[in-house]
Amino acid sequence: MTFVNMERIEKHFNNNVVLKDVSLQMNRGEIVSIIGPSGSGKSTFLRCLGQLETIDGGAITVDGVELASTDTNGVVKYADKQTMHDLLLRMGMVFQSFNLFPHMTVLENIMVAPRMVKGMKDTDIMPIAERLLNKVGLWEKRDMYPSRLSGGQQQRVAIARALAMNPEIMLFDEPTSALDPELTGEVLKTIKQLADDRMTMIIVTHEMNFAREVSDRVIFMADGIIQEEGAPEQLFTNPQSPRTKAFLDNML
Ligand code: ADP
Ligand code: MG
Repeated sequence: MTFVNMERIEKHFNNNVVLKDVSLQMNRGEIVSIIGPSGSGKSTFLRCLGQLETIDGGAITVDGVELASTDTNGVVKYADKQTMHDLLLRMGMVFQSFNLFPHMTVLENIMVAPRMVKGMKDTDIMPIAERLLNKVGLWEKRDMYPSRLSGGQQQRVAIARALAMNPEIMLFDEPTSALDPELTGEVLKTIKQLADDRMTMIIVTHEMNFAREVSDRVIFMADGIIQEEGAPEQLFTNPQSPRTKAFLDNML
C-alpha cells in the first residue's frame, strides 16, 4: 500500500510558480532521493509534506490519512488540526542547519520532545536516548552542549533527536550541505545505517554518489517539475532527459 501519496502538488510564492505539478508515491521502507539545481523547488516540496508550507493545488495523503486535497473549484482543504498534528508526529525532519537547542545538552536535546510532546516519562525515554546516541556514536558526548561539538556531530544529534520521536518516515533536506567536506562522511554513514534498517526516507541531496548508493529511486527536479525519475543505476548511468544529463555532467 502507498505510504506517501503527493498528487499533482502546486505551490507558488506570489507570482513565482515553484511547484507546477509534482507527484510522488512511495511505499513504506522505500528510499527516494531528490536531486536537482538550486531553486528548483526541492525544499519546498519536502516542506509541503512536512507541513511547513501549504499547497496551492493537489493532494497529500500519508498512510491513507488525507492531509490536504483540492476540490473541483480548485480550493485546497486541509485536515483538522488534530489530524495534521498526529501526522506530523509520524515524520522526522532534518535540515541543512542543525537547529539544536543551544542551551540544552545533547541528552536534553534528545529527551525534550518525547517528554514535552508525547508526555513520556524520563525513565522510559532514557533507554531510547541511550540506544540512539550509541547508534550515532555520541553517547559519550551526552552531557556536552551543542556549541562544543563539530558540525557533523551536531547533525548526528539532530538525526538522533528526530528518531527519538519514533517517526515512520524521515525527511532530509541537504543534511550535509552546511558541513565541511571532511565531516559529511560521518553524517552520510548515519543515514546509510537508517537505510540498512529500511527506514522510509526522502533525501534531498547534492551527494550524487550517496544518492546512488542508498536510494531505491532518484528524482531529478528542475523548474518546479520532475524532469526524470528512475532507479539510481538507470538515472545516473543512462539519463533520458538532456536536462538530467547536463546536470549530472556538471555534478560528477
Ligand atoms: P531548492 O530547494 O530546490 O533549492 P526551493 O524550494 O528552496 O528550491 O526554492 C524554490 C523557489 O521558491 C526559489 O525560487 C525560491 O526563491 C522560492 N522560495 C522558496 N521559499 C520561499 C518563500 N518562503 N518565500 C518566497 N519564495 C520562496
Ligand atoms: Mg533547498
